[in-house]
Amino acid sequence: MSPTSAAALRNADRLKESQAGNSTDSLVRLSPSRASDYKTCPQLFKYRAIDRLPEPADIYSTRGTMIHAVLEQLYLLGKQERTIERARALMVEVWANLKADPEYSSLELDPLEEATWLEQADGLLVNFFRVEDPTTVSPHELEWWVEHQTDLTLLRGIIDRVEVMADGEWVLSDYKTGRSPSETYALGSFFGLKFYALVCWRTFGKMPKLLRLMHLKEPEIITLVPTAQMLKGLERQLDALAHAIVRAREKDDWRPRMSHMCNYCPHKAICPAYAGEREAAAASLSATTGPAPQTGAE
Ligand code: SF4
Repeated sequence: MSPTSAAALRNADRLKESQAGNSTDSLVRLSPSRASDYKTCPQLFKYRAIDRLPEPADIYSTRGTMIHAVLEQLYLLGKQERTIERARALMVEVWANLKADPEYSSLELDPLEEATWLEQADGLLVNFFRVEDPTTVSPHELEWWVEHQTDLTLLRGIIDRVEVMADGEWVLSDYKTGRSPSETYALGSFFGLKFYALVCWRTFGKMPKLLRLMHLKEPEIITLVPTAQMLKGLERQLDALAHAIVRAREKDDWRPRMSHMCNYCPHKAICPAYAGEREAAAASLSATTGPAPQTGAE
């Protein structure tokens, strides 16, 4: 079995291919995460979407990947099989496969850290069963790749779950396994789901009836009813964002925007905004330790 499902892997490959185009053609390729990156900090967007710098796996995003994979696989089972015991067994399998994947080797959890981390992940599964009875849900799509292209943008990404109600209306659900600082602070917690509602509306002519944000940590489910006015406003916002990215690309001007978000940034060590801080630290170290010793024969 692969670390996640075949669909998840296919989608991950598609995202990578799609992001690659950001530096090579005129379309601005945006997912909710990349749009949020640009709003948070243009330099961060460049590192991720243009330079495509590698980022080490961290325990929070890996936990999100694992829980998403478990819930996807849980919903592929028959309704009566969707129990907490089965979900726990799936988590063991998914984690074993993630651990064997070199992409996650940077986690370097010692046995105690791993046990604590898995206990927290188990708590998220327990919470999931507290807010939802999976034997009553009939997903229509899981980890669904969607995209919508305009003259300027390619909006794309992966919807966690789509249900089609008896009256034919669509409900989109998004699982949240922890704080996602960039999306939460830059654009609001419903940004991703509104983004996907817009893509569904424009691509399939179907505006979802309801957006469900499932916070598994609290746990709670927050809902939002999208409207045409809301989604048109988001469309204008994304258009303006894309124009700003085109200008930045033309001028190669990606300004760092310093904020508390820098504490979560995996590229802080090379960010020009922190060059002064790095130089001051190096000077202070040199003053403390004295000049470097001379080496080699004289
Ligand atoms: S460290 Fe801060 S300013 Fe620099 S790229 Fe990251 S988020 Fe932007």
